[in-house]
Amino acid sequence: MPLPALAQGGPICERCDLTLNFTDTMASGFLYCPHCRQPLETIELGGFPRGVCPDRHCGFIHWNNPTPVVAAVVEHRGGLVLARNVQWPAGTFALVTGFLEQAEDPAAAAAREVEEELGLRATQPPQLIGHYPFDRQNQLIIAYHVRAEGEIVLNEELAEWRHVPFAEVTYWPRATGLALRDWLRGRGYDPQEAPLPLRS
Ligand SMILES: [Zn+2]
Repeated sequence: MPLPALAQGGPICERCDLTLNFTDTMASGFLYCPHCRQPLETIELGGFPRGVCPDRHCGFIHWNNPTPVVAAVVEHRGGLVLARNVQWPAGTFALVTGFLEQAEDPAAAAAREVEEELGLRATQPPQLIGHYPFDRQNQLIIAYHVRAEGEIVLNEELAEWRHVPFAEVTYWPRATGLALRDWLRGRGYDPQEAPLPLRS
């Protein structure tokens, strides 16, 4: 039975994702100035609402730029590895994702995340698939194909994993799912879109 590949953009908290309103700059990260602790004011700058420190001498502006997140389409023993984060509901499987460390090359980050989360070692440099905005999380997904080998050993972030034959993969119409779709199409497959799960 085809498994949906959930396109969560990065290591997220589902609970926060449901409660934060990302159209409101004030709710997207900072309520108070991280320099001088004054409550930020929302002012439109450059066409977007920004959290701005009212203290002119401080001048802090929360630009709310997207956060880059790497995602890995992991090819292992002739199939795709999908994993379920411990915070996700049963049956929800997705790509391995993670944040970049300071000054880290994104391709190296993709290989590192695969090794940390799955215990697999990349057998060649990760190949860029593309960039995919994930608006709801204000992230930019940088997706790589990672060919890996070894025995899968999950770290504490993941609850379970599945091997899925490429021909049976369905994709999620968002961010990492679109990366998965594009990579599969490049390999000659015709993946079908899976419906979004109901969210409360
Ligand atoms: Zn300030």
